[in-house]
Amino acid sequence: MTERSLLSRLSQKRLSLLRELGNLADEGGVSLYLVGGVVRDLLLKRETCDLDLTVEGDGIAFARLVADRYRAGLAVFERFATARLAFPDGLKMDIATTRRESYAQPALLPTVQPAAMEEDLSRRDFTINAMAVQLNRATFGQLFDPYGGQRDLRARVIRVLHAGSFQDDPTRIFRAIRFEQRFGFRLDPATARLLAQAASMNLIQRLSGPRLQNEVLLLFAERDPARAMARLGQLKLLRFLHRHLCYTKSVKRTVAAVPKALAWWGRRFPDSVIDKPIVYLMALSSESSQAVVATMIRRLALSREQAKKMNVGRQRVERVLKRLTDPGTVRPSQVFRFLVDFSDEACVLLLAKQASAQAAGGGSLLKRQLVAYMKSKTVKTALTGRDLQAMGLQPGPLYTTILGKLLDARIDGTITTEAEERAFVQKRLGKGDVRSEC
Ligand code: ATP
Repeated sequence: MTERSLLSRLSQKRLSLLRELGNLADEGGVSLYLVGGVVRDLLLKRETCDLDLTVEGDGIAFARLVADRYRAGLAVFERFATARLAFPDGLKMDIATTRRESYAQPALLPTVQPAAMEEDLSRRDFTINAMAVQLNRATFGQLFDPYGGQRDLRARVIRVLHAGSFQDDPTRIFRAIRFEQRFGFRLDPATARLLAQAASMNLIQRLSGPRLQNEVLLLFAERDPARAMARLGQLKLLRFLHRHLCYTKSVKRTVAAVPKALAWWGRRFPDSVIDKPIVYLMALSSESSQAVVATMIRRLALSREQAKKMNVGRQRVERVLKRLTDPGTVRPSQVFRFLVDFSDEACVLLLAKQASAQAAGGGSLLKRQLVAYMKSKTVKTALTGRDLQAMGLQPGPLYTTILGKLLDARIDGTITTEAEERAFVQKRLGKGDVRSEC
């Protein structure tokens, strides 16, 4: 393969853009490179979405020039000498300044200084991510591979660039697992030793919550999180989520059942947007106590929304699952009440747990109940609190009880019109028994 043909794997539109940017770099007297994961993916013939560029010179000034020329949105991160551009057609581009990083303390973010391209590549995580393609006109398309990235891609090997790499930045431990699993590569033996050594220390503990969260959720966003999780288990890394996390055989079965559950849910409810990594995190912690889950949520600095999705409680999941897979009659309104504060992610977990149970039964019943539940979520009563007030009822907690009863009756289909709702309320008011009955 010639190096020119490497860039020709990009769409014509992207290729022209890179040529134009190369010319712009010539005008500005700086060297411009396409760099990192995008080069790796081009060599692997994998699709790439975003473009990472690096400038030998002032990257931020160049990014401003590009943003002006292409009317792209621009965000500048002075501290890291990088900028992010959002082009009108949706393309995202990071433009960085070639740099040297020094780690004052392991696991903390580095300090950054300008450096030449070769040095910039030497601070990267793995050889396969430490390649660049030149974009200036005279050298357009030439691969710069000072650390044997192409050799390692061919050998399907993940290799760090120096022995202190995982200690400088323990997020690389997760990144190594991510690339190993994604590409089906193996760790080079020395890298595997260094990784095991770094994993056995408490370096990951020093990572901030958001950085750890980012790595864990990226891992669980991959195509086969079950394997990545098994690898974390094998390397005894799950302890950094919580040292009492229960990673049992049945948890593994639940995790393995998630893809099918997600696929069924996606087919049945295409409008429901599922946070897939959170489902995997829920499956992983599905046999851990609520206290363990709460601590893990704090450690990972999950957002309030993610925490709410996760916080259903193991015992509650088990109880609801038992009721929903019991062939005895459960009214639709009861199903609604069981599930009303379950997130869609928690519903997917129910499916996975059911499918993974040793004596799996009731799967189609559970699916029917979930379909009924999703339908009942759209049911509304015609009457509101204001109507109850107009009917002479003093505002108070009783409103919630009456409106709840009306909603149940609507969901069960025993009431279908507003007139019937009014008659229901009148009857109770007439009898004066709303309070006692509710
Ligand atoms: P993905 O395909 O998952 O996006 P990527 O390799 O493009 O993978 P990014 O996180 O976008 O990953 O990083 C872009 C590049 O920046 C990497 O290819 C690597 O060269 C460098 N890089 C990212 N994170 C690190 C790190 N923790 N340590 C060293 N280099 C890193």
